[in-house]
Amino acid sequence: VNLVIILLLVLLSCNQEKNPQSKEDEFVSELLGKMTLSEKIGQLNQHTSRWEMTGPAPKNNNSQDQLEQIKNGEVGAMLNVTGADATLNAQKLAVENSRLGIPMIFGYDVIHGYQTMFPIPLAEASSWDPEIVKLSAQVAAKEASAAGLQWTFAPMMDVGRDARWGRVMEGCGEDPYLASVLSVARIKGFQGTDLSANNTIAACAKHFAGYGFSESGRDYNTVDIGSYTLHNIVLPPFKAVAEAGVSTFMNSFNIINGTPSTANPYLQRNLLKNKWNFKGFVVSDWGSIEEISNHGAAENLKEAGLLAIKAGSDMDMESNAYSKYLNELVDEGKVDEKLIDDAVKRILKIKYKLGLFNDPYQYSNIEREKKEIYSKENRDASRNVARHSMVLLKNKAQLLPLSKQIKSIALIGPLADSKDIPLGSWRAKAIKNSAVSLLEGIQSAVSAKTKINYSKGCNLTIGDRNFLQELSYEQNDKSGFQDAIKAAQNSEVVIMALGEDCWQSGEGRSQTDIRLKGQQLDLFNAVKKVNKNIVVVLMNGRPLAIPEIAENADAVLETWFGGSEAGNAIADVLFGDYNPSGKLTMSFPRNVGQCPIYYNHMNTGRPTSTNNVFWSHYTDAPNTPLYPFGYGLSYTTFVYGEASINSGEIKKDETIEIKISLANTGKYEGEEVVQLYIQDPKATYARPVKELKQFKKIKLKPDENIMVSFTLKPEDLGYYSPEGEFLIESGEYHIYVGGNSQEVRQVSFTLID
Ligand code: BGC
Repeated sequence: VNLVIILLLVLLSCNQEKNPQSKEDEFVSELLGKMTLSEKIGQLNQHTSRWEMTGPAPKNNNSQDQLEQIKNGEVGAMLNVTGADATLNAQKLAVENSRLGIPMIFGYDVIHGYQTMFPIPLAEASSWDPEIVKLSAQVAAKEASAAGLQWTFAPMMDVGRDARWGRVMEGCGEDPYLASVLSVARIKGFQGTDLSANNTIAACAKHFAGYGFSESGRDYNTVDIGSYTLHNIVLPPFKAVAEAGVSTFMNSFNIINGTPSTANPYLQRNLLKNKWNFKGFVVSDWGSIEEISNHGAAENLKEAGLLAIKAGSDMDMESNAYSKYLNELVDEGKVDEKLIDDAVKRILKIKYKLGLFNDPYQYSNIEREKKEIYSKENRDASRNVARHSMVLLKNKAQLLPLSKQIKSIALIGPLADSKDIPLGSWRAKAIKNSAVSLLEGIQSAVSAKTKINYSKGCNLTIGDRNFLQELSYEQNDKSGFQDAIKAAQNSEVVIMALGEDCWQSGEGRSQTDIRLKGQQLDLFNAVKKVNKNIVVVLMNGRPLAIPEIAENADAVLETWFGGSEAGNAIADVLFGDYNPSGKLTMSFPRNVGQCPIYYNHMNTGRPTSTNNVFWSHYTDAPNTPLYPFGYGLSYTTFVYGEASINSGEIKKDETIEIKISLANTGKYEGEEVVQLYIQDPKATYARPVKELKQFKKIKLKPDENIMVSFTLKPEDLGYYSPEGEFLIESGEYHIYVGGNSQEVRQVSFTLID
């Protein structure tokens, strides 16, 4: 029998050797064999359009050079060309004119929707619901692909610990496990199960790596983190999506240990392409190859290009380093053409998978574009996602939900009638002022008898506002206060829409002051004097420092920037058509001085003094956040029992079973996110005080209760050494289970060999 098995294995391996390539490999190798060095280098360039970003390519002088480059096969990919018409025309230039007719790939920042805007990613993460996140990405892919795009520069999976950083709105918050689960869901939504289908698009894991740690939250600032943080906090989400089959990666602007990520062979070659076996391609961030020399890590653009290609950056977005110098570098013997071949193969393979060689025009479909973009179905999906993304932060005396029969409501605040701010930044092709405002949402929710006394009260910003402009905030004008006070006096309840302008967050939109800007707090205090029943509806792209609101408002609902249907979705929650179930994924600080503040911090060497005061503390504020990671209320109440574990001693080949009872003791059906954290109090390398390892979203009817069970494997207890070695260490572990990172039940056990 043994002999037969050996013979079979030998036959099998011979067969594999004879036929080592898949169809796609064969196609790509054959095509590569026909390419000149210049044509190969052409595939490595991504350019933004020099013509109007929508509509057909005009034949004007500015764009003439670029049109010629495309015709010559010198452009492998474009960005910012959108619309079936425009992409079709551009694609034809490449396919019909270049020698080998290789189609281009069209990429765009489809971050939270294409034209139907969904809530910003930080909001969607608050749903703790992978299906909700996936749905949002699916609809975005459907719309983007109908407009001729095959590639989105999303998801961003940079862990965000610092609310000052404007780009926290684009990520999943402060936890690497949650970011892993939700980013995988997002990728599945974008890419579907068949990348060649005309309604799915390639995703891009960004920014690889460390960009979220920009010092003091200032965008593009330097990054200085240890390799322990790199391996345990920054990299896990990227590893998860590489394993889940993401098509592309984008590297990052920052340095890691003195080497720009874009020039970092350890990150891109050793880890990503070798250890994680990633087969897709890596695109540079916009101009990040050029930035290598701005960092001071290369002499000039030529050397930057050399470092980048060697490090494994396959595609050059907008630095023109490859197009200008790669030819020369190969001639000089500095770059082995094999490196270029590898990069080209990776890019061609993704084009193959997208079906572009089969039909380069399948994505640019004017009929589909008309039918599928901004459809009722897509907007309904957005409304559903937005409801799931809101977090109820306070609800004193059950002020919420409000009755639709309520006699009068004062709706006050600079964001209450905005049809633009809820669209958020990174809004792709959203139409300006197209969102359902809160005012509109409330108007369509309440009974015909309800009187809505709307008063803006104050402006948040002065003058024009768009994504290129710096914002000026209203500092003096209180002329609208009287009207707002009158509205509040004449109403049973006040809803105040406060927060940020959407252009306060996003790329290049960092802030040193994350309190309510302008006159908002003064307005709140003035209104509070005449009407105590205030519901604050927050719209913002980051955690805010709002201790006064937390103290003095009766109810606070965090709605983020909720997208096209924001006003309707908020009304759904305010009037009880949807019971809020979101939980924060970033800690809310008490003041900006606490930033960065996050739940999974390390111990200090100075824990507590005898009278229970932390040695490591501020003299003017507590160490704890205003609202912790994982926090969020419901209209119903959930009561947890004690947690239990299958054994006090568990071997490394066994599983860990944890159980906890959960009861809905309130009046409404509701959903609770049950969170499980671990702590390894004594390890070879110090570990965080808590680490999220699993969660479950459970729906319960009033009076219903359930036993929630979790199964952990010993590898779930593991972590990385600073050298990147994965360790699972024996010893004592604590498990914490509960409804947020601070209120938990504990069980402990010992892991034995
Ligand atoms: C951003 C990327 C984005 C790219 C293309 C860069 O400035 O950092 O996240 O995908 O621009 O728009």
